Amino acid sequence: MVKLSAKCILAGDATVGKSTLVQLFRSDGAHFQKNYAMTVGVDIMVKMVHIPETNDSVELFIYDSSGKEIFYEIMEKLWEQPSVLCLVYDISNEQSFNSCAKWLQRVRSRTLSSHLPGVLVGNKTDLAGRRAVEQKHAQDWAAQNDLEYFETSAKEMENYEVPFRSLAKSFHRLYQERVESIQTIV
Ligand code: GDP
Ligand code: MG
Repeated sequence: MVKLSAKCILAGDATVGKSTLVQLFRSDGAHFQKNYAMTVGVDIMVKMVHIPETNDSVELFIYDSSGKEIFYEIMEKLWEQPSVLCLVYDISNEQSFNSCAKWLQRVRSRTLSSHLPGVLVGNKTDLAGRRAVEQKHAQDWAAQNDLEYFETSAKEMENYEVPFRSLAKSFHRLYQERVESIQTIV
C-alpha cells in the first residue's frame, strides 16, 4: 500500500470554471457554485484519490488561482515544482482556449522533471449551442502537447471527476516506472 502526494496546478483564464470543477470534485458533486466568487490569491484543496485495482492512493493538493493577469505574480511563486497540471478552458470562449498555450508554457517552465502529466479540460459543454472551439481541434492540440483531453460540464455535473482521477493515475504510473527503474539499477 503506497500513499503518494501530488501538487496539482489548476490553470486557465478567469471564469472558465476552475473553482467550480474543483469544488464539485472535492464535495463529490454536492456543491455547484452558481455565483462567480473570484479567487484572488491561491486556494489549496486536498483530496485523496484511490487508484483502481491497487491498494494505493494519491493525495492531490490542488492549487486553484484566479487566472487574472494582475494576480499572476502571487500565483507564480506558489507554482514551483508542480507534479501534475489541470489546464481548463471554456468551450464557448475561444480566447480561453487560445490562452492555454501560455498557461502550459508557464507551468512547464516551473517543472524540474522531464515529464509533467497533464490534462486539458474543455468545460461548459452544456453551452453546446454557443460552442466556439471544435472538440477535434482541441483534442489535436492536446495530443500535440502531450495532454489528455476531456470535456466536462460542472453545471450538469458531467465528467467533473475524470480529469482529476486521470491525473492521479498518471502520477501513480510515473511513480511506479521510477521505482522499477531504480530496482533495475540496484
Ligand atoms: P474560475 O474563475 O475559472 O474559477 O471560474 P468559476 O468556477 O468561478 O466559474 C465562473 C462562472 O462560470 C460561475 O458563474 C460558474 O457558475 C459558471 N460555470 C462553471 N462551470 C460551468 C459549466 O460547466 N457550465 C456553465 N454554464 N457555467 C459554468
Ligand atoms: Mg476561481
